[in-house]
Amino acid sequence: MSQAVDAVIIGAGINGAAIAFNLAKRGCKNIAVVERFTIASGGTGKSAAIVRQHYSNEILIRMVRRSRDIFEFFDDEVGGSAGFVRTGYLFFVPGYVVEAFKCNIALQKKLGVRTRDISKEESKEICPQIDPGDAGAIAYEPDSGYADPYESTVSYLQAAKALGARLYQSSPVQSVHVRGGKIECVVSAKEEFATRVVVNASGPWANKVGSMVNITYPIQVTREQEVMFRAQPQSLCPQLTVSDMCNAIYFHPFGQDLLVGRGFPKEYEHVDPDNYAEGSDPDFIEDTAERIAKRVPGMESAFILKGYSGLYDVTPDWHPIIGTHPELDGFISVVGTSGHGFKLAPAVGEAVSQLVVDGKSSTFDLSQFSADRFATGHSFKAAYGGNRA
Ligand SMILES: Cc1cc2nc3c(=O)[nH]c(=O)nc-3n(C[C@H](O)[C@H](O)[C@H](O)COP(=O)(O)OP(=O)(O)OC[C@H]3O[C@@H](n4cnc5c(N)ncnc54)[C@H](O)[C@@H]3O)c2cc1C
Repeated sequence: MSQAVDAVIIGAGINGAAIAFNLAKRGCKNIAVVERFTIASGGTGKSAAIVRQHYSNEILIRMVRRSRDIFEFFDDEVGGSAGFVRTGYLFFVPGYVVEAFKCNIALQKKLGVRTRDISKEESKEICPQIDPGDAGAIAYEPDSGYADPYESTVSYLQAAKALGARLYQSSPVQSVHVRGGKIECVVSAKEEFATRVVVNASGPWANKVGSMVNITYPIQVTREQEVMFRAQPQSLCPQLTVSDMCNAIYFHPFGQDLLVGRGFPKEYEHVDPDNYAEGSDPDFIEDTAERIAKRVPGMESAFILKGYSGLYDVTPDWHPIIGTHPELDGFISVVGTSGHGFKLAPAVGEAVSQLVVDGKSSTFDLSQFSADRFATGHSFKAAYGGNRA
């Protein structure tokens, strides 16, 4: 027998969880979060979860500022912990993007981000383990850092459940039934929900879910590897979060260890989200070890602890698709988060809950993220390329 709910959220990653909490907080409590496997089993669970504020357009800077505040004051804003660690953040860029970098810093400052362009000497004072070497410019954000992707997602879901939302795991959504341009029901492996509202927050599986209602997104799924290193001795491990565009890596401390991933520029490896290698390739590990040792010389003697792969769901302009679909009343997409959607999720959760309840977001102009921007020539322009946005 089907249960009547006010909304079904497909996917219990950070976005589905943040949307569920914010919907429940706004009074829309009779909702179901339906997850095909386990909490954070998509891109979220593999995320480096870096929360930095260096973006190149106004809407993302505003969103990440709000998100960062929520991550830091999670217990007051949501309840529980997001595992946020305010390490401070350094961003190293090569000489050829310095002009764009300076414009971005000016925009970020104008919008209230605590950031500044620092010298190599100051970088060494902030973090002596890091060699600023070849950088064309360096930004420092004292308030940024990283969070814990599992803890954040779990805390959001716990808070949503406390307000009345229900979570269904190991229950893949199999079909969404539509009549006369309106949603009627959602059928998963174990349940059936009568509803008028569906939020597609299924990450790399967005097109599989979209195909249930004849919606296709311009999204490609890519495999992204990360490696964990242990410095020998531990004092050589930088206690700071870093994006290093010169060596195309990012890293942050993780307990005693250093989590390192490959940033852009790099080649894309397109994969099927249901069939990809979840481990890490030996060549990748070797290459990453060389890159990290260039920026953090002490890491040359580090142990390699483990490597693994996750998935990005990437749009043509590396910005998410968020919004309604005129041809299908009540269907809302929050997909294509393009490798940087963890840090934006708290703000996305607030804005999407307003969209669902009020028909419009009062905090952010979500129309900028509409799916038709690619056809109408309103794509976002990237300052640096890839998920640096
Ligand atoms: C290696 C890596 C590093 C990253 N680093 C960062 C970073 O430092 N900072 C940052 O901001 N972002 C980062 N990201 C990106 C960020 O993690 C993602 O943008 C974000 O987690 C996406 O969350 P989501 O909830 O939209 O999707 P997901 O986390 O992918 O969740 C989607 C969920 O939907 C479920 N699902 C799919 N199909 C169905 C179905 N039919 N029925 C029910 N459930 C379904 C899936 O099982 C999954 O749990 C990184 C990503 C990766 C992979």
